[in-house]
Amino acid sequence: MSPSSARRRALGTAALAATAALLLTGVTTGSATAAPGRDAAVARARANVARHAALFGYGPGQELVVKDVVLDQDGTQHVRFDRTYQGLPVVGGDLVVHQDARGRLADSSRARGHDPKVPSTRPAVPAQRSAAEALGQAPGISGATSAPELVVWAADGTARLAWRTTVSGTGKQGQPTGRVVVTDATTGAAIESYDAEHSATGTGHSEYTGDVTLATTQQADGSYALIDPVRGHTTKDARNLSAGSVKTTSGTLYTDADNVWGDGRKFSTDRATAAVDAHANTAWTYDYYKNTFGRSGIKNDGKGATVFVHVGTNWDNAQWSDACFCMMTGDGNGTVDPEQVDLDTMGHEMTHGVTSATANLRYSGESGGLNESTSDIFGTMVEFYANNAVDKGDYLFSDQSTPPWLRRFDQPSLDGASADCWSKKVARLDVHYSSGVGNHWFYLASEGSGARTLNGVAYNSPTCNGSAVTGIGNQKVAAIWYRALTVYMTSTTDYKGARTASLNAARDLYGAGSAEYAAVGAAWSAVSVS
Ligand SMILES: [Zn+2]
Repeated sequence: MSPSSARRRALGTAALAATAALLLTGVTTGSATAAPGRDAAVARARANVARHAALFGYGPGQELVVKDVVLDQDGTQHVRFDRTYQGLPVVGGDLVVHQDARGRLADSSRARGHDPKVPSTRPAVPAQRSAAEALGQAPGISGATSAPELVVWAADGTARLAWRTTVSGTGKQGQPTGRVVVTDATTGAAIESYDAEHSATGTGHSEYTGDVTLATTQQADGSYALIDPVRGHTTKDARNLSAGSVKTTSGTLYTDADNVWGDGRKFSTDRATAAVDAHANTAWTYDYYKNTFGRSGIKNDGKGATVFVHVGTNWDNAQWSDACFCMMTGDGNGTVDPEQVDLDTMGHEMTHGVTSATANLRYSGESGGLNESTSDIFGTMVEFYANNAVDKGDYLFSDQSTPPWLRRFDQPSLDGASADCWSKKVARLDVHYSSGVGNHWFYLASEGSGARTLNGVAYNSPTCNGSAVTGIGNQKVAAIWYRALTVYMTSTTDYKGARTASLNAARDLYGAGSAEYAAVGAAWSAVSVS
């Protein structure tokens, strides 16, 4: 464990202890710990409410509970109260007392429920019945439990004794979710229901893509968690557990008090920084597949994956696991390569899940190379799709987390090991090198052969047969490849089969006589696949 995480944990414990101490001694030391101006303002506000009871709807059986105090620079005071009636919370019974610097009533604000009197605080409908009904009103929540609470509900101005029941469980995408159901405790009639968990938008200071927005979830305790309520994925700190040991339940969910995450640095001591990139880039990948191909998540079932950052120690890698339906990313090698959470890397790993759920290309021989190439292709397309100003679309793979790049598409052999052209030897290469043929094909079909500069990067793509190839743009080629992967390829497809599959897909999408069909075939021939 790194020193920084030990320090974080120690701080957390100290803060917890301080809170507990405050709770225990709050009754006696409350006035000593709070600002004197605040207590004086509250005392004056209570007196003002009592003196102007009709204005605030204040009467027998009510108690005021201080919620917030705002003291303006000029001394003006705004004291906010919730109220109870016969000890029950009054929903819609809140009020604000506005006072001048000397505590004299200046104005009042009150919610609709300022007359909380109800004939009886004994419910005619038993708690168990309302709890069961609440479960019925919260479909789509699995493993649900419900907690009914008796309240006076007066949000529309008419006070009623009511059961406010919180249903908690798991949502359709595996995320923690909840719903609040309010029913009349006298008649059993439904009053209102609403989501208990609040989706939120956080700000992340990322390593690779500048400042980004994050889809987060506000939890019951008010803190925010890296649970994407739209796409359903969850980002966790693996706490340096090795990749082989990670299970879905491993690690720690990222939570944060202010929904502002990370410090924007590579090799950061703030463990949330890599999580910012991972969480945001998983969302980009999900959105790419959803908005481009209508695919809902890796398995096309709407479910989000679990994403682990800080896997292993100096693990310069990332990995997809079908077994735990999770992505794992390492921290890089500690010197040159930072955390493996950049856009194309995340897109690459998630695509392994897509491949597994579709063609399921065997991870050895030529099908293994096609599997890797598919991940490189769609990882790259995610990068183009995100259109980020810092991490621009390019045909360099893992250029951010393995600078200057790990693999490149225009001439894969420039990495010293990948194949540019198909030959019988390709089947015996490591899958990360036999992928070169597929990547080279994708580049030629998209951009064409020869030299060109895109987004500031210079490329020069040769052909294996001396031909000149004209590209049709990577969006069309990606659409063809996606259809080939999901409709025509199987677990044992080799390069020759991939040519046939992609030509079938091009025929389906653009017609057998189309320029797109011709370009796909010409690009395969240019990498010696015929
Ligand atoms: Zn891979």
